[in-house]
Amino acid sequence: MSYRKIFVVEPGDKVHLDKIDPSFTGKHESHEKAMPKIQEHLARMDKLQYLLYADGDQSLLVVLQALDAAGKDGVVRHLFTGMNPQGTSVFGFKQPSKDEAAHDFLWRAHQRVPGKGEIVIFNRSHYEDVLVVRVHKLVAKPVWSKRYDLINDFEKIVSNNGTRILKFFLHISPEEQLSRFKQRLDDPSRNWKISDADYSERELWAKYTEAYEDALERTSTQHAPWFVIPANHKWFRDLAISEIIADTLDDMGLKLPPTHVDKEAIRSKYHAAEQEQAGKASGA
Ligand code: ATP
Ligand code: MG
Repeated sequence: MSYRKIFVVEPGDKVHLDKIDPSFTGKHESHEKAMPKIQEHLARMDKLQYLLYADGDQSLLVVLQALDAAGKDGVVRHLFTGMNPQGTSVFGFKQPSKDEAAHDFLWRAHQRVPGKGEIVIFNRSHYEDVLVVRVHKLVAKPVWSKRYDLINDFEKIVSNNGTRILKFFLHISPEEQLSRFKQRLDDPSRNWKISDADYSERELWAKYTEAYEDALERTSTQHAPWFVIPANHKWFRDLAISEIIADTLDDMGLKLPPTHVDKEAIRSKYHAAEQEQAGKASGA
């Protein structure tokens, strides 16, 4: 069965994250053994992204959400090795700027959705407004609780305009998170990535889990499905996400646009000498 079917959250399904094994790797035993598959997916993505860009009619939005150190940055780095930077971009959602905070919560997201032919990755997203904002009570419950429907409406608008939307929740265990924090502390080249806030946010794990479960249940739709990706093993996370993206692009019916030029006329006008040479060489 494809990972799209295995990991998708069916619309309306209640997700119990504690029942989903973050260390799942399916039939794959190791990174080495999964490598050829990952390479195959990345090669497909490269080819299909070229077609998406050339076709210029549809687009793809990839949303990445997770707790700290679950691997959002790793996914971005990895996916981009399978795509041409021309026509792809990534946008990281930080705390809203003054200008952003002066608008409705979807304003900054709407400005960044992909145009025709493009792929955009959201590293965090408009979902922060029902996650961190809910957990830290940055707005009152009557405000955030209306946002699920608003998000669904927003994503409907975007998908109606020819954008496929794929949303990934990277699922790690608290133990794995702690071990990644420790690596960031111990490795001087990663020190810059660790902060006190990472540890204090960790204490809110149960509250974040509740907020994620509600978001997954209320906003996984046919037009913008959520996938819960077991992410304790970085290689498996990359394997699953690259397959889901490649399969989705495959389904989009992408094709090279027809040429509107008279190729023969151009050949005889600008390449006559080469054609004559080629003819002589082949003895014609
Ligand atoms: P890493 O996972 O590697 O730490 P990061 O995505 O956490 O990377 P940071 O710059 O550390 O990047 O954090 C961005 C912060 O901005 C996050 O804590 C996130 O919750 C917060 N944020 C994003 N959107 C909002 C929002 N709408 N309101 C409040 N905080 C937000
Ligand atoms: Mg952070």
